[in-house]
Amino acid sequence: IETTLVLVKPDGVRRALCGEIVSRFERRGYELRGARLLKVSRALAQQHYAEHKGKPFFGDLVSFITSGPVLALAVRGENAIAGVRTMMGATNPADSAPGTIRGDLATELSENIVHGSDSKASAKRELGLFFPDGLV
Ligand code: ATP
Ligand code: MG
Repeated sequence: IETTLVLVKPDGVRRALCGEIVSRFERRGYELRGARLLKVSRALAQQHYAEHKGKPFFGDLVSFITSGPVLALAVRGENAIAGVRTMMGATNPADSAPGTIRGDLATELSENIVHGSDSKASAKRELGLFFPDGLV
């Protein structure tokens, strides 16, 4: 059993897709262990996306994720880390299969609606950033 961090990014919140996205994870059978709507600070954004520091799109990534509130979710279940990533679809919505969140709801790489941790180490690190009280 794993717990992973999901973010509904500012575009998803703006487009009122939180319910739709939460509902997909719940219907799949994953359990919600934490939920928090917050405006991401630049410092948190830079920590969260530290792996992309130095890449040409890093500045845009930080600007975008801080552009409005995000919904942070702690999602728990059997193989939740990979399972959530599969449900999200390919990073670039142009390549995301229909039936996935991005394949159904997004068209642009820079506004691809959701984030999901990509490994056990990332999940642990990212849950610590978004749920620092350690309750999830
Ligand atoms: P996320 O981390 O958001 O769950 P991901 O793990 O599928 O997405 P990453 O490679 O971690 O993809 O990239 C993080 C985000 O940076 C992507 O969601 C996308 O919005 C943006 N991004 C990735 N590659 C590029 C690129 N080449 N040009 C512009 N933006 C990019
Ligand atoms: Mg990633």
